[in-house]
Amino acid sequence: MIYDNNNIFAKILRGEIPCEKIYEDEFILSFYDINPKKKIHALVIPKGKYVNLDDFNSKATAEEMVGLLKGITTVAEKLGISAKVGKGYRALANISEHGGQEVPHLHFHLFGGEKVGKMVE
Ligand code: AMP
Repeated sequence: MIYDNNNIFAKILRGEIPCEKIYEDEFILSFYDINPKKKIHALVIPKGKYVNLDDFNSKATAEEMVGLLKGITTVAEKLGISAKVGKGYRALANISEHGGQEVPHLHFHLFGGEKVGKMVE
């Protein structure tokens, strides 16, 4: 899969476009979605150049995988929505065309702060 260096999340990672940052470490960056669909709508992206989850799973190191997965819970805890400190949330990744992915850099949406509703509408 060819990664587009000019996608909007690549620009955010390079600091060329601002974001409302929630959390950052060596593996991930998390920021609020610009067009929130729920009371809390955060995005979690890996720092590596991966187009989508399938691309990530075929190329990422084990450390990057753990970093991304654990990072989701870290962010959810910071936002007060994790199962441990809050009432839970939905983590969702859109993958490629039929998945409805718009930005071609892997990202997980974290929806919470209220009941999220039906899984698919
Ligand atoms: P997806 O359809 O899964 O690719 O989701 C892309 C998400 O990125 C959408 O929910 C957009 O609202 C969000 N988005 C696009 N541009 C920005 C931006 N500059 N900052 C934060 N979120 C963004």
